[in-house]
Amino acid sequence: MSIIVKDVTKIYGKQKALNNVTFEIKTGEIVGFIGPNGAGKSTMMKIITGFIPQTSGDVSVNGCDVVEKSMQVRKNIGYLPENNPLYHDMYVKEYLEYVAGLYHLKNTTSRIKEMLERTGLIEEQNKKIGALSKGFKQRVGLAQAMIHNPKVLILDEPTSGLDPNQIVEIRNLISEVGKEKTVMLSTHIMQEVEAICQRIIIINKGSVVANDYTQNIHTQSNKNHQTIIVEFNKAVKAKHLETIKGIVKVVNIKDNNWLLQSNIEDDIRTNIFDFAVKNKIVVLSMQKKEKSLEEVFQELTKK
Ligand code: ADP
Repeated sequence: MSIIVKDVTKIYGKQKALNNVTFEIKTGEIVGFIGPNGAGKSTMMKIITGFIPQTSGDVSVNGCDVVEKSMQVRKNIGYLPENNPLYHDMYVKEYLEYVAGLYHLKNTTSRIKEMLERTGLIEEQNKKIGALSKGFKQRVGLAQAMIHNPKVLILDEPTSGLDPNQIVEIRNLISEVGKEKTVMLSTHIMQEVEAICQRIIIINKGSVVANDYTQNIHTQSNKNHQTIIVEFNKAVKAKHLETIKGIVKVVNIKDNNWLLQSNIEDDIRTNIFDFAVKNKIVVLSMQKKEKSLEEVFQELTKK
């Protein structure tokens, strides 16, 4: 079950929320859709699930156009909307029975039991949804998204507002479910995609700014850039350090500890070492500092 998004633009009144967005999610992938607030994540997900139409461009799920074959697409998609709207006065099991009815499912009883088990809701099934903790409400949201056994899951900010323990539980559940489904999840937390997703699509101000395997984005952005943290045994002048071949930035961290930066591909540690030997300085420690994915994300989305 693949998702193909081609040249999609969405304009609300005068507000352009998506600008020529193109990407593909292949069968069985878990893809993180990440971007700051207002980037267009929810809008994109609502278009894929057929809740709102795009202004222009094409979207298909497993070869079915989401506008022309909306009903067929919805059967194949499970959707957990942002803020997980639920009927708070309904009981968990009752609510799942209601959702199963909407999909005209046949084996309702066994299907609901299976969902309650998978999402860890057996003990809560006779409680009112409104009385549940946020983490359990999120499980109910996931159960309703999966009840018709869709091949594709679209999860909009599935862990937002949860405490750290609940976040881990929901992430584990998504990873487990992702083994047999195509999953697209949105978040503004980089660690989330690192923990669950094989691939990430970064969106900023309605445009895709990166789309690659998590590891590739990391490697690529560290390729033409090096940061070295070094400690010398005695005082050195910044001006003197600037003469080291390849160094473009020199920052004193503390005492004889320095941050040296280059924008070349070669390893500058040899140059630093040669400089120290030539000037009779001892290098007490030297370590390479890689940009974290969080920093890469910030760079890509602040432009
Ligand atoms: P995200 O999910 O990444 O936070 P959204 O898709 O919710 O971003 O919003 C993208 C942009 O579209 C924002 O500028 C937002 O204000 C605007 N927007 C979203 N929904 C509507 C709407 N129904 N009417 C007008 N503008 C909207």
